[in-house]
Amino acid sequence: MRYAICCDFDGTITLMDTGKALLTKLTDKDWHFFDDLVIKGEIGTREALVNQWGMIEKTTMSDINKIVDGIKVDPTFIKFYEWTKKIGMKFTIVSDGFITYIKRILSNNKIPEDEFEIKANDMRLDKGKIKLDFLTAQCTHDCANCKYSHVKQLKDSRYKIVYIGDGLSDIFPAKSLADIIFAKENEDLAKELEGDSRLIIFSDFSDIKEKLREKLDLIQ
Ligand SMILES: [Mg+2]
Ligand SMILES: [Zn+2]
Repeated sequence: MRYAICCDFDGTITLMDTGKALLTKLTDKDWHFFDDLVIKGEIGTREALVNQWGMIEKTTMSDINKIVDGIKVDPTFIKFYEWTKKIGMKFTIVSDGFITYIKRILSNNKIPEDEFEIKANDMRLDKGKIKLDFLTAQCTHDCANCKYSHVKQLKDSRYKIVYIGDGLSDIFPAKSLADIIFAKENEDLAKELEGDSRLIIFSDFSDIKEKLREKLDLIQ
């Protein structure tokens, strides 16, 4: 059996959501408003992110990097990742964040960022405004980055899917495609999938390792 791990980045690999940290520090405007609309199902995350990042009037890469450099990775992540590599699982990061900061955070935390396949959007600055470069075309779910399509590709290549995540953008791909779902305790994904037989709640990556090993009956 071939397994592919599809893992969210912000709030899952990192202890804090980088996008939320950036928005909180770079604008005083009410960006939560758009998250609430997503929760109510009134708009997709694509529309939400365009509006939210558009609220930042003016910034610089140095302002952004200062905030990004304060983001910590779950200290148990690297051991988990090394273990999945050793037992031959494919590892893909699926994120609504930006490649630029994902790579920077991984490398800040001494994680070999060039080893990862990262399915995420990117950003650039245009006269101090943040502009988004989308990885995927607009989909029927209006995803900022269609995590569903990335996971589907792996599923179609006959991988069993282990989905790891915490937030709103993880609900649809996990629910529709995953064989095993790890959801961070007390967060939106865990709440939304309560009662689902595939759901396993986790606190950190050492917890995932133990539970996955048990689930798959692995000796390593
Ligand atoms: Mg997340
Ligand atoms: Zn989508």
